[in-house]
Amino acid sequence: MSASPRTPAKAPLQAIKGTHDILPAEARLWQAAEAAAKDHFELYGYREIRTPLFEATELFEKGTGQTSDIVTKQMYTFIDKGGRSITLRPEYTPSIARAVIEHRLHLEPAPLRFYYIGSMFRYDKPQKGRYRQFHQADVEVLNEPDPAIDAELVEMADSLLGKLKVGGVEILINSVGCSKCRPAYLKSLRGAAESKRFEFCPDCRRKIETNPLRIFDCKVKRCRELAAGFPLLSEYLCRECADHFAGFRRHLDAYGLRYRVEPRLVRGIDYYTRTTFEVITSQAGQQNAILGGGRYDDLMRQYGGPDMCATGFALGMERLLEAARPVGREEKVLYLAYLGEEAKVRAAQLARLFRSQGIECLLEFKERGLREHLGRASKLAAAWVLMVGEDEIRKGRYPLKDLATGGQVESTQEELLHYLRSQVRPGQPAE
Ligand code: AMP
Repeated sequence: MSASPRTPAKAPLQAIKGTHDILPAEARLWQAAEAAAKDHFELYGYREIRTPLFEATELFEKGTGQTSDIVTKQMYTFIDKGGRSITLRPEYTPSIARAVIEHRLHLEPAPLRFYYIGSMFRYDKPQKGRYRQFHQADVEVLNEPDPAIDAELVEMADSLLGKLKVGGVEILINSVGCSKCRPAYLKSLRGAAESKRFEFCPDCRRKIETNPLRIFDCKVKRCRELAAGFPLLSEYLCRECADHFAGFRRHLDAYGLRYRVEPRLVRGIDYYTRTTFEVITSQAGQQNAILGGGRYDDLMRQYGGPDMCATGFALGMERLLEAARPVGREEKVLYLAYLGEEAKVRAAQLARLFRSQGIECLLEFKERGLREHLGRASKLAAAWVLMVGEDEIRKGRYPLKDLATGGQVESTQEELLHYLRSQVRPGQPAE
């Protein structure tokens, strides 16, 4: 039975638990990190794809998986006014797979390379680094079976983290096999888990039947100790999967990347096949996994789509910003100080002209004397103050004060335009 609707305790004047506002100073850093990520992905030939924020619930049940924590515990699911079961996307991969099938993108030349940055929603236990609405940069490649692409993804992620000065990075990799070799492994895993059934937490006991691989995700100390003694998947990999994993490693080695093979890295989503990887950093606090991904060669077929392999990763933007030092846009700003009604109109015209040339202008409409204008401009960290009064309008020459040096020059509109443009867009001629 579903719980009856409850209004959050402090609604509506507080953000919902597990969500957070990104205020302007912080938003600058987000913009910088997002721009860096987009530029970086584009360098490798990825193109942006945007899909809706919500999808049919079935998409995630079928894809993310009936035994995953995401589907069993964390989805924001509701019935819309048309009686459909809708879910706010908890991850991006199923939406990409759906869009590819729906728009028959698989008919385009392989491989397909996509990226996207946006919000995801999971009803998880909120804490620092773990939110209910969070943001991911998501990267997917479809129709490329070669393990070289998995290595390229890891290299691309690693070099992005390098650009953003994320330190203490460690790459973990594994292979979770395929539908050919995994059943024998699951059988042996189930046998091992069954023999200790009553020592596991109730959740893991359920997983013995549903998907024993999920036991590796359990955070309970005793379950982790027991799982440490389980047989390893690496001993069960079929020839093709073993070769694929060796190829993946060979390419990582060629890039000179340092990584650790983590035989229990299964990741919390059901669709992974062969490659899985995760990047952790000592700088992101307790929630140290900054990105994770892997192959999902069977997902498209599971959806009734083409038999098309795929691989990708998702980077947590909140955790990235915790660990990274992106440099926000530092625009030099011109403050326009005017005295009187006629000057106010002229200042607005000048601001329109300067802005059309890419010069950021601040024009406020509270009446102020010159001293007050100067005080306000320095509070807003403006680079210059342009003074517009009746005399200046008549002469067609305006004093420009540089707030850093205190120096002042008087110039015509054209001279100002030329000078300010050269300051904010060095090397670019005025349009
Ligand atoms: P996943 O989609 O579970 O493979 O996670 C990929 C990355 O998304 C993780 O490594 C985290 O950086 C980030 N992430 C996942 N869940 C959350 C969450 N609830 N809050 C913040 N970041 C998250």
